[in-house]
Amino acid sequence: MQKSLNRRNFLKLSAAGAAGGLLAGGGTLSAGSLNNLSVKNGIIHRTLGDTGLSVPLVNLGFVRSDNPRFVNLALDMGMTLIDTAHGYSNGRNEEMLGEVLKNRPRDSYYLVTKVRGNTEEQIMEQFDISMNRLQLDYVDILCLHGSGSRQHTLDEARLNAFSKIKAQGRARFIGVSTHSNEPEVIRAVSENNIYDVVCTSYNFRMENYEDLKQAVAEAGDAGTGIIAMKTMAGVYWDKERQDPVNVKAALKFALQNPDIHTSIPGVESFLELEENFEVNYNIDLTPEEINDLRLDQADTGMFCLGCEECIGQCPRSIPVPDIMRSYMYAYGYKNPALARETMDALEIRGDTCGSCSSCSVKCVQGFNVAEKIKDIDRIRRVPRDFLV
Ligand code: SF4
Ligand code: SF4
Repeated sequence: MQKSLNRRNFLKLSAAGAAGGLLAGGGTLSAGSLNNLSVKNGIIHRTLGDTGLSVPLVNLGFVRSDNPRFVNLALDMGMTLIDTAHGYSNGRNEEMLGEVLKNRPRDSYYLVTKVRGNTEEQIMEQFDISMNRLQLDYVDILCLHGSGSRQHTLDEARLNAFSKIKAQGRARFIGVSTHSNEPEVIRAVSENNIYDVVCTSYNFRMENYEDLKQAVAEAGDAGTGIIAMKTMAGVYWDKERQDPVNVKAALKFALQNPDIHTSIPGVESFLELEENFEVNYNIDLTPEEINDLRLDQADTGMFCLGCEECIGQCPRSIPVPDIMRSYMYAYGYKNPALARETMDALEIRGDTCGSCSSCSVKCVQGFNVAEKIKDIDRIRRVPRDFLV
């Protein structure tokens, strides 16, 4: 993978920004993104692959479970796709959504949730619990949470559980979410006519990840609905949160790809929510926004590329990319609950690095892996009740 934006892609982006045109209703579109777009009440929509669901380009990802007003405001503004997961905030996120959504017409939103499990029984059990929390008869999209390989994605027990839930009508569509080894997982989805949707990391820091872009294009051609996650690439460039990513620019960048049908950024404030929503009216990148994305620099801030170049370097087989993602959730997103859930899912016993005193892992981004692991490992000792 190349680490800096090549000039050809940079010029392509600049040209797309310069060629934007005004749409009826106030939305503007760039020349490179005219595919698969429609405008409703000024809000730009794309169709989520063969699901046929028409959704705004920017919707709602994780929000704090103690603030349902974010969800109500998002829905009132015109977002229609709400994303959650069985494990978010130990289930409190689904419970909060259940309380909000019971007051809304069922056809006014699309709900995505995600479950994990190694056996059919575990998945069915998690899903039953999620449905009780959500107070729904069905979800619109049920995803296998956090798959990192073809084998995991197409495992027979998982496929049986997901197919059964869909056949029962308790999930209209089924999909997979992936944060690492994304091209392999996306192809496992698009080359097999089982899942309808894939939620994948996709952002400006991955612009030169050619295999990811190719896998996304193949999935788009195959009719897979594609939802972008991690569009903000960590939200901040620094652990101290003094140097924020230009989030509107980051969203616009991801949405220039016509095969990225929608995005689900999480929000921490009403201002962030409003800024994200504005992108639904205009995805043209200005020269200043392109500049803000620092595309000609190698620094990825807190975002782990998920390239897996580090896999196999650690004698203890520590899942480094997953732990780097947890670190980003804690320091970039300021979401310790999600950071803890990510660590818990790894089922590590004891201290992650144990007595290993010399780190042999060389990250292509220059992350000090051992230091970051030591730092984030502390979150596993925090009582869950303290993590919202
Ligand atoms: S310090 Fe580095 S090599 Fe040692 S266990 Fe941790 S990640 Fe692996
Ligand atoms: S930690 Fe570094 S080498 Fe490993 S997946 Fe992330 S960016 Fe790649």
